[in-house]
Amino acid sequence: MNRTTSLHFLGAGVAAHIYAIVARRVLGPDGLCVTMLDRSHDVPDRTLCVWGSSLSAISAAAVAQWKHVRMGFGQCSIGLDLGSMVYCQYTAASIRALADAQVDIVRETGNAAAPNPEANVSLDSCDRGRDRIPASVSLLQHFRGWRIRTSTAMFDADVATMMDFRVDQSDGVCFVYVLPYAQNEALVECTVFSAAVWDAEQYEVRLRAYIADIIGASDYEVEATEIGIIPMTDRMPQRLHGESWIGIGTAGGLTKPTTGYTVARCVRDAEHMMMSYKRTGVFSVPPLPPGRFRWYDQLLLRIIRDEPHEVPRILWTLFSRNPVEKILRFLDEGTSLTDEVKIFWSLPWRPFLRAIIRR
Ligand SMILES: Cc1cc2nc3c(=O)[nH]c(=O)nc-3n(C[C@H](O)[C@H](O)[C@H](O)COP(=O)(O)OP(=O)(O)OC[C@H]3O[C@@H](n4cnc5c(N)ncnc54)[C@H](O)[C@@H]3O)c2cc1C
Repeated sequence: MNRTTSLHFLGAGVAAHIYAIVARRVLGPDGLCVTMLDRSHDVPDRTLCVWGSSLSAISAAAVAQWKHVRMGFGQCSIGLDLGSMVYCQYTAASIRALADAQVDIVRETGNAAAPNPEANVSLDSCDRGRDRIPASVSLLQHFRGWRIRTSTAMFDADVATMMDFRVDQSDGVCFVYVLPYAQNEALVECTVFSAAVWDAEQYEVRLRAYIADIIGASDYEVEATEIGIIPMTDRMPQRLHGESWIGIGTAGGLTKPTTGYTVARCVRDAEHMMMSYKRTGVFSVPPLPPGRFRWYDQLLLRIIRDEPHEVPRILWTLFSRNPVEKILRFLDEGTSLTDEVKIFWSLPWRPFLRAIIRR
């Protein structure tokens, strides 16, 4: 490609760096000019996990990966082989480091209020408060995790625990997530789906109980703490703010309402956008996924809001009665209607029926 392409990023978070990496990969380095404006260029300490192929545009930024995952509920726990997929961990810092290694980025500091009319496109990670569809349900996924080191070997470093519901469920849907890095080192995170965040002690009581009773460790050091909040809402923000001014990342509506997963969706969105520009000279966003996926998310959000005690059993059944690769494809909105009928057939149907009736 001989033309010069200038990308201006409003907000320089995780999404901005993913789009810069994909732009470099699709458009090549020649003539690519990237500027990023953020109110602060500090990098948040953020653990980001993604399932899928190990050959994605950002895979060189992976800091850990697992071929097996575990789920827990009631008295049971099951290990699931991801088959052709991997569960990969990145960090905000590793994605930024990959972008810096591949792209010359000019960084500016300040309030990102308006697009840059000189740029070919302004890609915006700042929430402009404009709705394409307003929220009918608004909840939060919130968590607090400890990176711990145990005095003896306690973890199977090949198996990440995606959801273990064997924790107190009295204040909202709660599960523990474990990413083992070595036999004596792991991130153990207490994750909650509810309307409001908790006090630190509420998460920590559950973390201490899980580490003692399920992991079985009594002697350990907490080396770091991670906290986070991700919106769980069916709100669809407006993406196109003006000519060549496009919302990306969470502000662009790319966070999956029921899982919080955003990174893989940004990679796919960026690939579509950069390929369309390469072909036509215009940055166009991909079509929305079929509306039924939004409806499934809404049903689950209503169940989380109105019948949280049903959620652990639903999610356990989802993973324990279906091939894991199919479920991960379903969560990525890549399944067929026939697949989805089979998946819903396997689930406890009464809460869904009530959620369809109730708004
Ligand atoms: C702790 C945590 C863990 C997560 N884990 C996962 C995960 O495992 N997998 C996954 O797929 N997703 C995960 N997510 C969700 C999502 O991937 C992240 O929130 C991701 O950072 C979203 O990228 P973003 O660029 O949209 O937002 P951010 O990374 O938050 O970047 C937005 C940037 O815009 C800047 N900004 C905002 N407004 C302005 C303004 N007016 N002027 C200037 N700058 C501005 C901010 O300073 C920030 O740098 C996680 C989120 C959190 C909070």
